[in-house]
Amino acid sequence: MGVKNIRLNNGIEMPEIGYGVFRVEDGKELEDAVVTAIRSGYRSIDTAAIYGNEPSVGNGIRKAIEEGLVTREDLFVTSKVWNVHASFDKTITDYEQALERMGLEYLDLYLIHWPGQDKYLEPWKALEHLYKEGKVKSIGVSNFQVHHLENLLKSAEVTPVINQIEFHPKLTQLEVRDYCLQHDIQVEAWSPLMNAELLNHDKVKEIAAKYNKSAAQVILRWDIQHGIITIPKSMTPSRIQENMNIYDFSLTEEDMEQLNALNENLRSGPNPDEFDF
Ligand code: NDP
Repeated sequence: MGVKNIRLNNGIEMPEIGYGVFRVEDGKELEDAVVTAIRSGYRSIDTAAIYGNEPSVGNGIRKAIEEGLVTREDLFVTSKVWNVHASFDKTITDYEQALERMGLEYLDLYLIHWPGQDKYLEPWKALEHLYKEGKVKSIGVSNFQVHHLENLLKSAEVTPVINQIEFHPKLTQLEVRDYCLQHDIQVEAWSPLMNAELLNHDKVKEIAAKYNKSAAQVILRWDIQHGIITIPKSMTPSRIQENMNIYDFSLTEEDMEQLNALNENLRSGPNPDEFDF
């Protein structure tokens, strides 16, 4: 069964499972992994300027298109602006350079990577400009807390379609999820597997054994049953495939609750309120 789509607040559909490529070096191995992911059925790919691997993601995408696996329109490609230089003009140039690096005509989604300390209002104006000009299909944010979103929405003309945040059973982010739900902003989970740390957790393994699925599959299933888009990363072809095979079972309400109960508000990445690059 194919991956389901979620309709974003601008009417555009986005696959609920995508392929993440953080901490992967630019190069042939990544190009091949992108082709493998597309061959396995992924249609959404998540990269960022700061990952330094947009060229290989772009090469992999073009290879898959050349091989006839998909068309560009079948794919949903995300990248993120590293808003160290927060001016309007710099953000526009960053987008154009991202397209050049990837060899693509447009992105499906462009995100502000981190809010920083007041570093997002001008970049957001630039993203709105790109969106209104039709240069990018959707725009969103990442690592925004409630107060960042409240502040952004005071002056925003376009509501972000997505807030991509760290989310996994040890960090369930109830407050920001609730705010996003109320404002029709889709939540997307980064490090859904807590960068593999959760795969040896006893409770996760116990639930996985019950369904005859892997720990990763159980966590990713938990994501989509919460209505959250998820983007697991793997460079291992068998795991790339495994992480998509989550449509032949569903977690009971009780098991969802047991996973929810693992929350410790524990981050594996930086706290957005303290991280100022
Ligand atoms: P994940 O939580 O996706 O975990 C990735 C790790 O889990 C890798 O070591 C991978 O190993 C392993 N793994 C994946 N699937 C399996 C499996 N089925 N069985 C066993 N091990 C598995 O971590 P990431 O931090 O990469 O997060 C996912 C994506 O989220 C990123 O790639 C990036 O696109 C995005 N992200 C965004 C951030 C932001 O600030 N917006 C921050 C961090 C991430 P292997 O590769 O060896 O198979």
